[in-house]
Amino acid sequence: PLKIGVLAVQGAFREHRQRLEGLGAEVREVRLPADLEGLDALVMPGGESTSMARLLSDFGLWSPLRDFHASGGAVWGTCAGAILLAREVEGAPPQFGGHQDSLGLLDVNVRRNAFGRQVDSFSVPLKVDGLETPFEALFIRAPVLTDLGPDVQPLAEHAGQVVMVRQGRVLASAFHPELTLDPRIHALFLDLVQETRQETAPAV
Ligand code: GLN
Repeated sequence: PLKIGVLAVQGAFREHRQRLEGLGAEVREVRLPADLEGLDALVMPGGESTSMARLLSDFGLWSPLRDFHASGGAVWGTCAGAILLAREVEGAPPQFGGHQDSLGLLDVNVRRNAFGRQVDSFSVPLKVDGLETPFEALFIRAPVLTDLGPDVQPLAEHAGQVVMVRQGRVLASAFHPELTLDPRIHALFLDLVQETRQETAPAV
């Protein structure tokens, strides 16, 4: 089976684990750089991106995560996880001087809490590229993705805003497929992992 890590420093990592195991993946919780060894892919869950960023520093995970991607690992970020993947973060809290560190593995700008305070949370049937029927997508203080680079492919839009993208072996969604029971987006990610693993496998 595919070996999938779930970043487990903060946020909804248990739910990702359950969905992925339900689809037959072998799942490992990742807290330390050594936990990344031998994984095919990593999922970064939703939660709170500023806390997660601080914990990445505490656990010494910033460069190991970049190296993991550079050496062929696939990565999927949901909500706060998507924020951490972006090239640029817009709307970082003022106490951080308006700046927030990110991995820069995805050539997009991410605008935090983009749907406004009045509509903190909502669920909508979302048309997603690659799925035959809409996916009931749960948004919680969700970001949107803007200024997509040339290699970034939009996969879903809500209210005229891009909320899911793919760039090579990186997937990002502004909503939370792990908090609903529909496993189709997790399945889509596992397909992506399988596909890119073949591409990056060393020739023997
Ligand atoms: N608004 C949160 C942040 O900026 C993300 C929310 C979420 O992951 N549901 O980190």
